[in-house]
Amino acid sequence: MKSIQSPPRTWAEINLSALKQNLKLARERSGQRVMAVLKAGAYGHGLEQIAKALDSEGLPFFGVASVIEARRLAAIGIQTRIYLLGPTFPDERAEAVYHRWVISISTKEEADHVNTLNQGNDPLPVHITLDTGMGRGGFLPDQLTEGLAHIKSLPNLTVEGIGSHLPSADEDKAFTLAQFKTFESAFDPSEFQYIHIANSAGLLDYSSKITNMVRPGLMLYGISPLLEYQDELIPVMTLKSRVSLIRTLPKGHGISYGRETILERDTRVATIGAGYGDGYPRSLSSKGTEVIIRGKRCKLLGRVTMDQIMVDVTDLPDCETGDEVELFGPELLVSEIAQKAGTIAWEILTGITPRVTRIYL
Ligand SMILES: *Cc1c(COP(=O)(O)O)cnc(C)c1O
Repeated sequence: MKSIQSPPRTWAEINLSALKQNLKLARERSGQRVMAVLKAGAYGHGLEQIAKALDSEGLPFFGVASVIEARRLAAIGIQTRIYLLGPTFPDERAEAVYHRWVISISTKEEADHVNTLNQGNDPLPVHITLDTGMGRGGFLPDQLTEGLAHIKSLPNLTVEGIGSHLPSADEDKAFTLAQFKTFESAFDPSEFQYIHIANSAGLLDYSSKITNMVRPGLMLYGISPLLEYQDELIPVMTLKSRVSLIRTLPKGHGISYGRETILERDTRVATIGAGYGDGYPRSLSSKGTEVIIRGKRCKLLGRVTMDQIMVDVTDLPDCETGDEVELFGPELLVSEIAQKAGTIAWEILTGITPRVTRIYL
């Protein structure tokens, strides 16, 4: 018998030409080399597919969170160098050294360990992390001179770059400007091949005379952390689902768990095949959240359940079973959804679960 496979209920369309457009903007806007940040499965867009799409772009690095992500890229033969963004655990360093993934160093002890593991090989290029205010890793500015001198004395390492990170580039201008100042006066730029501090917000809203690389994540995926730049970007992911059922329910009927919503009029209710099991947050319940059907915004009714949501399509008489639904995308930004859910776009994107089929366009 011929095998039969139904289309997905909920899927994420990933627009790879939008990804490249956004990269182009990151390059033009910064005038610098771009480390594409691909951590957390390329922000939920699919680690391998996004890496493949960008591997021929001539980027200096792909930034990933962990050796597991680095290993997945190595396994498919990605040629772009891999940069481990956070500190490495001691038991991860042997693998990182073996593959010559770039480790970011925060302490003399880390450097000593990596130096020992790389005994007998060509010096391993590493980057130094400077903590200018993030509080997550790195040397404090007043520890840098001594730390750097120590690392430079180690025979199996070579210091290739220096980086820092911005905790509030999208929230606090004065602090961020002060951070840039601290960074720019902490070392002699001629000693480093790569100098980098800017994430997406830093890239879009600030400039520096000494940096020569930027590390955008979110903006590559077409979402701006600062609303004023959103128009220049194209959202890469569109989360879609389909209407599974339409019924007219009478005024006074309850909708979904807890019966938080009681219909105030006779209502045409569309049931849609997506829920928090797909990463569509339950916290969107009762927040005036909307979805888009046939180009029109329709209101969510009642709580988001694991696999289904209900929306009001009374004012959309054409709506029928099987209609496509945009949960977020170019017409309804994930940042808007995030705000309604009381979180940030980064969390929604990385929270889209594996059962959601990714379709690459
Ligand atoms: C995640 C991350 C980035 C990218 O941040 P966006 O705000 O998504 O652009 C850059 N640098 C480091 C160190 C990061 O951890």
